[in-house]
Amino acid sequence: GAIADGVTRGVEAVSGTVTGAFSDEVIRLGVTGLSRAGKTVFITSLVANLMNRGRMGQLRAAANGSIRTAYLQPQPDDTVPRFDYETHLDALTGPAPHWPESTRAISELRLSFRVQQAGLLAGLRGVRTVHLDIVDYPGEWLLDLALIEKDYAEWSADTFARMEVRPHSEAFRAALETADPAAKLEEPEAKRLAAAFTEYLKATREEGYSDCTPGRFLLPGEMEGSPVLTFAPLPPGESPRGSLAREFARRYDAYKREVVKPFFREHFARIDRQIVLVDALGAIHAGPRAVEDLRRTLAEILTAFRPGANSFLSRIFGGKRVERILFAATKADHLHHAQHPQLTAIMEALVSDARRRADFAGARTQAMSIAALRATTEDRVSHGEETLDVVRGVLLDSGKRAAFHPGALPADPSHLLVPARQGAEAWLDEDYAIMRFAPQPIALKPGEGPPHIRLDRAAEFLIGDRL
Ligand code: GDP
Repeated sequence: GAIADGVTRGVEAVSGTVTGAFSDEVIRLGVTGLSRAGKTVFITSLVANLMNRGRMGQLRAAANGSIRTAYLQPQPDDTVPRFDYETHLDALTGPAPHWPESTRAISELRLSFRVQQAGLLAGLRGVRTVHLDIVDYPGEWLLDLALIEKDYAEWSADTFARMEVRPHSEAFRAALETADPAAKLEEPEAKRLAAAFTEYLKATREEGYSDCTPGRFLLPGEMEGSPVLTFAPLPPGESPRGSLAREFARRYDAYKREVVKPFFREHFARIDRQIVLVDALGAIHAGPRAVEDLRRTLAEILTAFRPGANSFLSRIFGGKRVERILFAATKADHLHHAQHPQLTAIMEALVSDARRRADFAGARTQAMSIAALRATTEDRVSHGEETLDVVRGVLLDSGKRAAFHPGALPADPSHLLVPARQGAEAWLDEDYAIMRFAPQPIALKPGEGPPHIRLDRAAEFLIGDRL
């Protein structure tokens, strides 16, 4: 099929030979998460640390020397943008470190390993080549799966229901007041409504709400301004031929057909292993409603990993499935390690329903707290009578060094997740808001990748068994 052809060609182009092409193993690792969850930083640091394996002690194949070399190669998919690894790594580890540009669309990178089993088996198995194809894509795109089974009227009704409980919908509602959905379609009018609706989605996203479908309205990429992204929900009513309402319903269908389905078919259905990155700390700081919204959004995102639950998905997966899924709370370097177990417990609670179902579908799942790039160091300071666990770093805004104690996370995650109990515990301190650290200048010893928290454990879970 097309996939095998792509792989063969990629290998031939590099090695100039066909031998071995079919025996090479390929792992497709999906990296997703909502915008700003930490996908770009994760992939950059993962690849850097896999190429220089000095800091990957918990990845068995790195620690015992099975991985002989790891090197970048042209990816198998010629039309997917390449993940801009070199630029992102320069940003993070250059002389004036800064955070790289975030993920805005799908991209891909192939890292290849030459692997020889350590110890007695070494001579028996010889050297193998394993390709790791990393596929980076916005979590927002997974939310669109829910649209496939909804028609335009249902989606409109759902979207209006959500508006009832969310801020920032006034301007869009006002724009609707002056619109006549049954009138003949005029493109400027369509554009006006779509723009007001997009602004509403962006504003709620800023506020910390996660589920803001259609996903491409927030991250349009090259589709910006095209008809598939120029529609908005409308209240029920007449929709005569040629009317605005009729055209919006048609564009909604086109969005599902031309945007959503191809992504699932061509990219999502080919993934073997998946990491879902979650900025749980960000939501906790934003408050109870944002946490509840995140929980619901994750549940919805994760339905994508239960092909049985959706006839479109079972058709495109055709019996194949994602074998392992890691749920990772990112940016754990904002907390002293004494609080990492609490963060992991919150992460587990956030995805517990969905995890049970994915386990049931046969995928192995795990939750973890990680920092792909450690921007802080830990310390203890005395504060009056108490000693506090703090993290120290360079503030992004002022460039000043500072130490922070961001307040304690509750030991029992239900205090964050059960609405009746919310408010019983303090949320993360105000301090968390100003705790935006800059990446630190890193003194790398030869053979060491950038510093991280549990990136090696994450790699062991995701790909360790295949190396
Ligand atoms: P994406 O939208 O999922 O690609 O998110 P990015 O990888 O661009 O990360 C968004 C922002 O989160 C970055 O600009 C950083 O400010 C922050 N961030 C991501 N990973 C880490 C981490 O490991 N530690 C810290 N302190 N901040 C991080």
